[in-house]
Amino acid sequence: MLDADFFRRWLTAAAAAVDREAARLTELDSPIGDADHGSNLQRGFTAVAAALEKEAPTTPGAVLTLAGRQLISTVGGASGPLYGTLLRRTGKALGDDAEVDEASFAEALRTGVDAVAALGGAAPGDKTMLDALVPGVDALSTSFAAARDAAREGALATTPLLARKGRASYLGERSIGHQDPGATSSALLFEALAYTAV
Ligand code: ADP
Ligand code: MG
Ligand code: MG
Repeated sequence: MLDADFFRRWLTAAAAAVDREAARLTELDSPIGDADHGSNLQRGFTAVAAALEKEAPTTPGAVLTLAGRQLISTVGGASGPLYGTLLRRTGKALGDDAEVDEASFAEALRTGVDAVAALGGAAPGDKTMLDALVPGVDALSTSFAAARDAAREGALATTPLLARKGRASYLGERSIGHQDPGATSSALLFEALAYTAV
């Protein structure tokens, strides 16, 4: 079973991973974006970690909805509302149980990923964060490690794609040949999850 402390540790590990990889995420966002993805997420996840410490929510759902609200209110870029929606909708789907099992979490995260697709109008293959989020959540019913590997593969597989959503889509054919920054940060979220689960 997964409790509030598990989700707090996940998001704290995600904040550390974003800190560690911020320069690389911003570098990926430079040829096909505006070179701010790392700093956007760093600002957002720093706020998430601080809010979790200050407010100490006691259920998995409350941890995730608080984190989602922080991302929406502190990140100006496209990724803030999208990741904020992911966490908020996942948290809402978990309800107010003190503990949730892995299968319920996988189902709730699916609701969150679907909400990201609805908000941004993107589908897998459009060269966005969904190219890592969808394979990641698909594999979550197998294991946290399988989800991490699938999300990482999905992020790597964005390189040859033509961007159809977000800033990168303005470049048309010139978006081909670059790994998507948002898919790369989504893979980091699954990496932090697998790390937290061991
Ligand atoms: P901005 O593009 O506003 O500067 P970021 O650089 O923080 O925001 O985030 C860019 C990432 O957001 C992209 O790499 C992509 O993965 C993701 N993204 C952008 N638009 C969409 C969308 N409509 N649906 C899903 N993901 C998107
Ligand atoms: Mg950007
Ligand atoms: Mg920007």
